[in-house]
Amino acid sequence: MTRLARLRVHSKALQHNIMVAKKHAPDANVMVAVKANAYGHGGLQTAKICQNYCDGFMVASLYEGIVLRQQGIILPILSIQGFSSADDIKEAIQYNIRCVIHSLSQLVLLESHPESASNLKITLKIDTGMHRLGLAPESVASSYQRIKSLVSVNSSVWLMSHLACADELENDYTRQQQDCFNQLTESIDASKSLANSAAILGWENMQYDWVRPGIMIYGSSPFATHSAIELGLQAAMTFEAPLITIQQLNKGDAIGYGQTWQCPEDRLVGIVACGYGDGYPRHAPSGTVVSVNQQRTQIIGRVSMDVIVIDLHNIQAEIGDWVECWGENIAVDDVALSAGTISYELLCSAGRAVAVYE
Ligand SMILES: *Cc1c(COP(=O)(O)O)cnc(C)c1O
Repeated sequence: MTRLARLRVHSKALQHNIMVAKKHAPDANVMVAVKANAYGHGGLQTAKICQNYCDGFMVASLYEGIVLRQQGIILPILSIQGFSSADDIKEAIQYNIRCVIHSLSQLVLLESHPESASNLKITLKIDTGMHRLGLAPESVASSYQRIKSLVSVNSSVWLMSHLACADELENDYTRQQQDCFNQLTESIDASKSLANSAAILGWENMQYDWVRPGIMIYGSSPFATHSAIELGLQAAMTFEAPLITIQQLNKGDAIGYGQTWQCPEDRLVGIVACGYGDGYPRHAPSGTVVSVNQQRTQIIGRVSMDVIVIDLHNIQAEIGDWVECWGENIAVDDVALSAGTISYELLCSAGRAVAVYE
């Protein structure tokens, strides 16, 4: 059968990257972000690989958390979107999923079901400046009291916020957000959480009780200014596809849609079974790096739906060889930079390919 683009997910790299997070935040618990199908790595498989190394998981929707529970994940799970109906509240309790309350409307909903509310685990999200989800600073104290009056003493209420610019190490907005968080929470004795990957790796004193790393666990750098290798991270995903044919083209021959790349001289090129339909970014221009048999080369011409074309000038390769789009040899961050996007998007997109766990 014809081989397809595939992912290889490296368990050792995931586990290593958790240890890097632990090294930077030795006193905090580590909640790995496995939302969006674990950034394309496969939510359940990734959780299973990580569960003996971390302290909990963070998902977006309640539904993602329930799936993990049904498949036997027992560590704490936090849903950052939380509930939006009375049924959600019941399910969150049934499956023991901690829910973020990020809006007053959720609080009102909870108050209208006080009987179930008492057993729900809640994390109150504070908007310290991201201006997306979270309660406004002026309503935090009263909201916290309202939640405390609903929730039984056994179900502790936690506090969190999210940072908008932690990847910009010179930007003092991050400290302003932290000051806001501290002012609102210092008199409250509760578990607290602020740090994403950028804050774990780049900022001091941001660790609190729980850190929430995502991208660093997958082996990509949250910073434009520091590579994953410099940060000691290992790529958790190799996205690769087979070379399905090799063509000898002549000087002046143009490649692919729109004829955007012309052979400067007679040229050997390779056709790779991977395109934007498989999650390779369509906006990656000619020159975007790939690797074949440990040799770096580049894509040439436009990315199409199911193929890319690569330059085989001075490259040893045969039909059937795997071409790495990103992974152990090609940093996903480099491809993202070329394609005008971020690694997060590329990893998520590649998640539709068949995954092999090793
Ligand atoms: C996605 C997310 C994270 C993880 O962010 P990374 O940049 O991938 O480390 C942490 N906290 C919240 C609230 C998130 O939504």
